[in-house]
Amino acid sequence: MKSHAKAVVIGGGVVGCSVLYHLAKAGWTDIMLIERSELTSGSSWHAAGGFHTLNGDPNVAKLQAYTVQLYKEIEEISGQSCSLHLTGGVMMADTPERMDFLRLAHAKGRYLGMDTELITPSEAKAMFPLMDETNFVGAMWDPVEGHLDPSGTTHAYAKAARKLGAEIVLRNRVVELTQEVDGTWNVVTEQGTVKAEHVVNCGGLWAREIGRMVGVELPVLAMEHMYLLTEPMPEVEEFNKSTGREMIGVLDFKGEIYTRQERNGILLGTYEKACKPWSPVNTPWDFGHELLQPDIDRIAPSLEIGFKHFPGIEKAGIKQIINGPFTFALDGNPLVGPVQGLTNFWCACAVMAGFSQGGGVGLALSNWMVHGDPGFDVWGMDVARFGEWATLRYTNAKVRENYSRRFSIRFPNEELPAARPAQTTPLYDTMLANNAVMGDSWGLETPLWFAPRGSEPKDVVSFHRSNDFGPIGEEVRATREKVGVTEIANFAKYEVSGPGAEDFLNRLMTNRMPKTGRIVLTPMLNEFGRLIGDFTIAKASPRGGEERFMIWGSSAAQKYHMRWFEKHLPKDGSIRIHRFDQTLVGLSIAGPKSRDLLQKLVDVDISTKAFRFMDFREMAVGGAPCMVNRITYTGDLGYEIWMAPAYQRLVYKAIKEAGEEFGLVDFGMRALLSMRLEKNFPTWFRELRPIYGPFEGSMDRFIKLEKNDFIGREAAAKERAEGPKLRRVSFIVDAADADVMGDEPIWAKVGGKDYGTVEKPHGYGAPRFDAGGKEVRGSNAAEGASAVRGIVDGDWRVVGWVTSGGYAHYVEKSMAQGYVPVALAENESAGLFEIEILGHRRPARINVEPPFDPSGEKMRT
Ligand SMILES: Cc1cc2nc3c(=O)[nH]c(=O)nc-3n(C[C@H](O)[C@H](O)[C@H](O)COP(=O)(O)OP(=O)(O)OC[C@H]3O[C@@H](n4cnc5c(N)ncnc54)[C@H](O)[C@@H]3O)c2cc1C
Repeated sequence: MKSHAKAVVIGGGVVGCSVLYHLAKAGWTDIMLIERSELTSGSSWHAAGGFHTLNGDPNVAKLQAYTVQLYKEIEEISGQSCSLHLTGGVMMADTPERMDFLRLAHAKGRYLGMDTELITPSEAKAMFPLMDETNFVGAMWDPVEGHLDPSGTTHAYAKAARKLGAEIVLRNRVVELTQEVDGTWNVVTEQGTVKAEHVVNCGGLWAREIGRMVGVELPVLAMEHMYLLTEPMPEVEEFNKSTGREMIGVLDFKGEIYTRQERNGILLGTYEKACKPWSPVNTPWDFGHELLQPDIDRIAPSLEIGFKHFPGIEKAGIKQIINGPFTFALDGNPLVGPVQGLTNFWCACAVMAGFSQGGGVGLALSNWMVHGDPGFDVWGMDVARFGEWATLRYTNAKVRENYSRRFSIRFPNEELPAARPAQTTPLYDTMLANNAVMGDSWGLETPLWFAPRGSEPKDVVSFHRSNDFGPIGEEVRATREKVGVTEIANFAKYEVSGPGAEDFLNRLMTNRMPKTGRIVLTPMLNEFGRLIGDFTIAKASPRGGEERFMIWGSSAAQKYHMRWFEKHLPKDGSIRIHRFDQTLVGLSIAGPKSRDLLQKLVDVDISTKAFRFMDFREMAVGGAPCMVNRITYTGDLGYEIWMAPAYQRLVYKAIKEAGEEFGLVDFGMRALLSMRLEKNFPTWFRELRPIYGPFEGSMDRFIKLEKNDFIGREAAAKERAEGPKLRRVSFIVDAADADVMGDEPIWAKVGGKDYGTVEKPHGYGAPRFDAGGKEVRGSNAAEGASAVRGIVDGDWRVVGWVTSGGYAHYVEKSMAQGYVPVALAENESAGLFEIEILGHRRPARINVEPPFDPSGEKMRT
């Protein structure tokens, strides 16, 4: 074993081998994989080997599609077969709600370049005759599904990596990880120590233990999982003989079952409600190529439904039941990327579908390590998406919830209950007493809306408008006409201080930094000129002669942004960044009476001239030391008031008492989001994401190309010079009783006109494939994009996609935001657009100016 390597990958499961292969392919050959036992000694060897492209997150779906395409390539390079069976598969809906869910998935597929099709139960039965089709109302067909040999596939990655120069060391456990002052890692193994620049945790079942070696508790937990194999079945043999085809894969939501042909019989697996974690605290190091004791009672309820839905299978004898553990993160997606707070420590773990996702994970991570950027929008699987609140016990509760709901529908207004409440502000009990319906905002309980007194504060979950519609409307109208108060503790808050803080922020942000006492809004770009952040920044008065800036951003992106800030901090420690998290909480008041209200609580003049729009001031509110921003996300006259948690009850009480004479109401996050819609304001992670450029995102006025040389400036200048291909726009939709949820296709009546190729980007600088399957690399926004193909209906074409939307209560319109080709972005004609909501195309019209207060006069008064 060599003693030095550029990178050491720990773990020889399918994920570690894929990471090794991709690193070698990217040109890093001084790399080694260290495996405790033999390859596939974790969960990889006993997997059912199924693969598919569908995923709730379109960007993760795209990486799954890449994984499936990759198998041919690694077979060719390695000479090792993956035993690929591309059978196609169906998802079966047993109720109209599940059919709505499939319609949504199918609609998304329209711009993802997926060839899914909605079919009847009888059509599904023709491809899988063991089912009783009368149990179902419809189905969705996906041709890119199948199964493979898990062990062969892992070895194919490994052999391909070796051929490219990578080294694999077997039967050698990594026992300790330490880091030198210069950043070099000591990878201490049973056979000696390897000095490495980078370490990758691909420990699968032991990923948590490897995390602990560097002081990190990763939110990952292994669950027991069972599937059964039947004896050979004459019906299967007969079907194969008469059609010349293999039976397809079937996913039955109701039975929580997946099933497919395995040799001459059937494989049937379940995600049972009565699920069971495996080794919830410590994974034993001596666990080898072992299976767990099957527990048929646990999966009996699923089998009962399964046998009713697939009577053909019930008759067959069971040959074997496999029970094995594999790992999950809280939301079922992987944990990939550099761990915030550490240098060159990377993760590729919690990959629950290694044979659908392993290739994409390997590609994104190797891009990140070699080029400093994943090249794709990998937020859906970024290890930074969970905070410190995701402790061992929190993870246990959430993973069990996620596993047991694997095949359940998640409605757009559905909040999941496990592990809650976790973090609460001092106002939590008060909000409950006010009949608030609470939601989980990055682990923090946050009021969503207030149910009328006497009614149960609970969402009726639905794809359609629901029981919150009326109360949110009231909250919005009262705020817009009088004044409302809401909690905003869930925003991210940072302080940047030290000599040169202004220069540092000017280098990171696209806008100029404000003068003392003023606020700016500013996006942040990566080197590719893609949007990686959107912030509100205020310059506070200097303290101890040092410059000081307050920054507010997206709650969920706190670790993601801290990772970026830390990467760019000067090494001499002159600049400090403090993330407040819940040590700073907030309240926002908005509406025409908000100034009169606030004036009653402060001892300084806050008249229009004395405290202008976009001013920032430290002042006492209701007797509590606070920071106040004259700006709110409602787009109305309003204020954000920030205080230490110890003062929050005092300030809230003062606001409530002073607000009585003005008709003050409480409003929640959903009313706030409704108000931002009628102002055409974008949201982070919806409208603004790393797949879009700042001009595509219509953020033009915040991009000061003429100021200093900020990160991403060159690429942004190029985007402006060439003109963006896409544009973010707002629509008014003629909706019925359901509004858009996000990811719906946008149709346009383009007739014979050509508005250019319409593509949804997923990455930049990421691989794309030409018609012959050859990889094409580049670095513009369209790389890695899904060309919208074959989606033409007479004069109509799919030209874009929705990013978010909902009902704008004050202007009484259903609204949506999304991306369309630039040539269409200012065309406000009626009859030009339609947006597909739950499978029905609804007329839509672009609205260039926001329907509420287009001149912005109200927020400036
Ligand atoms: C019953 C069952 C059915 C499944 N069906 C499917 C399916 O149909 N489709 C699908 O895509 N997925 C399926 N899976 C999930 C799939 O198995 C996993 O997604 C995949 O195996 C994850 O691979 P991995 O490389 O991350 O982890 P692992 O396979 O667990 O590999 C981790 C490796 O790291 C090594 N290691 C750990 N710690 C150290 C250390 N300190 N030093 C050296 N080496 C170390 C281990 O020995 C192990 O070999 C199934 C899993 C089970 C259990």
